[in-house]
Amino acid sequence: MKLYNTLSRKLEKFVPLNGNLVTIYTCGPTVYDYAHIGNFRTFCFEDLMRRYLKFRGFKVKQVMNLTDVDDKTIRKATEQGLGLDDYTERYIDAFMEDCRTLNLEPVEVYPRATRTIEDMIALVSTLLEKGHAYEKDGSVYFNISSLPTYGRLSGLDRREIRSGVSVDSDEYEKDDVRDFVLWKGKKEENEPAWESPFGEGRPGWHLECSVMSMKNLGETLDIHAGGEDLIFPHHENEIAQSEAATGKPFVRFWVHCKYLIVEGKKMSKSLGNFFTLRQLLEKGYDPMAIRYTLIAAHYRKQLNFTFDSLDNAGKAISRVESFYNAVNQTANREASSEDVTKLIQRYREQFTAAMDDDLNISGGLGALFEFIREINTNYPDSQVPQGNKKEVLAFLDELNTVIACFNFGEELADEEIMKLIDERNQARKDRDFSRADEIRDQLKGMGIVLEDTRDATRFKRLK
Ligand SMILES: [Zn+2]
Repeated sequence: MKLYNTLSRKLEKFVPLNGNLVTIYTCGPTVYDYAHIGNFRTFCFEDLMRRYLKFRGFKVKQVMNLTDVDDKTIRKATEQGLGLDDYTERYIDAFMEDCRTLNLEPVEVYPRATRTIEDMIALVSTLLEKGHAYEKDGSVYFNISSLPTYGRLSGLDRREIRSGVSVDSDEYEKDDVRDFVLWKGKKEENEPAWESPFGEGRPGWHLECSVMSMKNLGETLDIHAGGEDLIFPHHENEIAQSEAATGKPFVRFWVHCKYLIVEGKKMSKSLGNFFTLRQLLEKGYDPMAIRYTLIAAHYRKQLNFTFDSLDNAGKAISRVESFYNAVNQTANREASSEDVTKLIQRYREQFTAAMDDDLNISGGLGALFEFIREINTNYPDSQVPQGNKKEVLAFLDELNTVIACFNFGEELADEEIMKLIDERNQARKDRDFSRADEIRDQLKGMGIVLEDTRDATRFKRLK
């Protein structure tokens, strides 16, 4: 299996460092607002990569952090007069719910920045001891001139670098190459702050990811992934902090997902083409059509997200689901044919070869649709021999462990939905709100949305 490594700018054969276990760190959401579809393009791609690694027989340990303290979360919480935890909690819940809606497999660890402060202080102390950092006006900065390899990931021209001049904000521009902040001294009276040997303050955003990744996955990780907008300064700074502290390579494969545009234009609130996942669901779009659209273009190509593409995704999904159902109900009583078994083998190989090539999902989906076409040519109306039915369905299920957009199960009947609604209403009466929410989420995962009115709870199937 090959992956494109941003660090070497080459396709490289991927082999994990330790046996069969792949360690992955993915920069998670900053929980100050609902995540938008651009964020979810990256998260869906990372989910596809994770699922494919498992398909290939690897074990995966993935960490996705929750940035619950940074410039943005603090500004928003202050605006609303809320404590940081109270403010971020609702967006953490919303994010988890969105992930379930898009059928993202839960990762193994979701560390929160505010619960990892001790380790962050320890890393800053190490960097100070080793002479890679300095204190100034109550803050601590990383001295980029102390690390000759600084800029390797993003390919910065060394001449642009201005060491000794520092920058305080978490996010800054590509031409603004300066000493970045590790620990921000407390400035405002009501700003969230923690005690440390360098005074009261809080960690910089870049530091958070270095610490949460190494704490959970060790000093050298197999894969670090994120959106391409994070290459500089975020990932460049993560490398600097980690490698300066440990003297070891921090990440073996840097994998970056390109951004998306919407209806041909850069997504922005002022153009009216900015969408959170929730806004698309409110418009009635099927979560699986959204997932399909987000994964169907290769991750290193720009994706033009359009409403037409959502409609087409819906059609592609029904084609596969109808095929599955037709095979499942085949009336062809013949014994098994060797030809079908051979077709499955050939298309499994085709799928695997495409996905092995830097996760070429277009080729992977192509293999699936060619398989369906060829079966239908040989067996009109998908009436495969009874003796092959099981293996055809198993093959579709197998591909769906990676693509994860198809619902091959039976649709829930109205009575079953009503039963769950009754159970939810009872749970609410008993003030068991977590059970009530669970049921609502379970239904949402199946494309069924509940609406509570004064008299009753109604449901709606999203199409
Ligand atoms: Zn990060």
